[in-house]
Amino acid sequence: MQCDYNELKMNVLLVEPEYSQAKRTKHEAKLCPVGLYKHYFFHISKGDKVCLVRGCVTPKIKPDMIKITSLFTYWSKDVFKAIEFYSKTYPNAIIKVGGIFASLMPEVIRENNSDVVVHPGIDKEVEYVSIDWKHLKRNIQILHASRGCIRRCKFCGVRKIEPRITYKTWKQLKKEIQLNDIVFFDNNFLMNPNHKDILEGIDNHRVNDKVIRCESQSGFDPRLLTQEDAILLKKARFKNIRISWDHNLKQKKVVRRALSYL
Ligand code: SF4
Repeated sequence: MQCDYNELKMNVLLVEPEYSQAKRTKHEAKLCPVGLYKHYFFHISKGDKVCLVRGCVTPKIKPDMIKITSLFTYWSKDVFKAIEFYSKTYPNAIIKVGGIFASLMPEVIRENNSDVVVHPGIDKEVEYVSIDWKHLKRNIQILHASRGCIRRCKFCGVRKIEPRITYKTWKQLKKEIQLNDIVFFDNNFLMNPNHKDILEGIDNHRVNDKVIRCESQSGFDPRLLTQEDAILLKKARFKNIRISWDHNLKQKKVVRRALSYL
């Protein structure tokens, strides 16, 4: 539980549901509630009293507003559990639900919880709020160098969650880097026309006189990966590099080519 008590304005409780299947997830960073962290620093900057919790707990504040995040649709049970718990415990609080599940299936949440405000998609109010990763005592920083995706895979929810494609430059990204270990949450890192600059920048950048190590939450698009990209990814100290093989065997040739570069 992380609480900050600034000038009293509004009591805001930020909730990450306790995902019962989370322990089975290999990559802890995948579960990092980046959006919720942005809300945390947004409310602190407004002078609100903010409390960030995981699961169904009794916080140190009596919340006026409760914001619950959500993740994969197949973990929705834990989100409903959190909604039910906080609705019953704080019937007068405004409850908002956002995140991936809320973006993909807002009607499912609304159907069962008419008093809850569902917020699908990226919240523009907090999108550009800076997260202080040291304050959160995290040793891995999550970054986005781009949003959206240039592909339109039928099974993928990215076009619903991040319909607008945006790119950052190395100059913009450099200002955001706070830690030595970074996980990129980009859906398709290589689609960014600035990705070569970014990789070269990371290679030469230092935080506390130490190099940066990177990982990508998503696999790399084999249709975009070039020999030069493979070299730059290694120079930028990307570990656990994976190829995203999203389609059928017709992609075999292009996947094989990408693997040969790596
Ligand atoms: S390439 Fe990946 S992120 Fe992009 S639409 Fe396809 S599955 Fe989604």
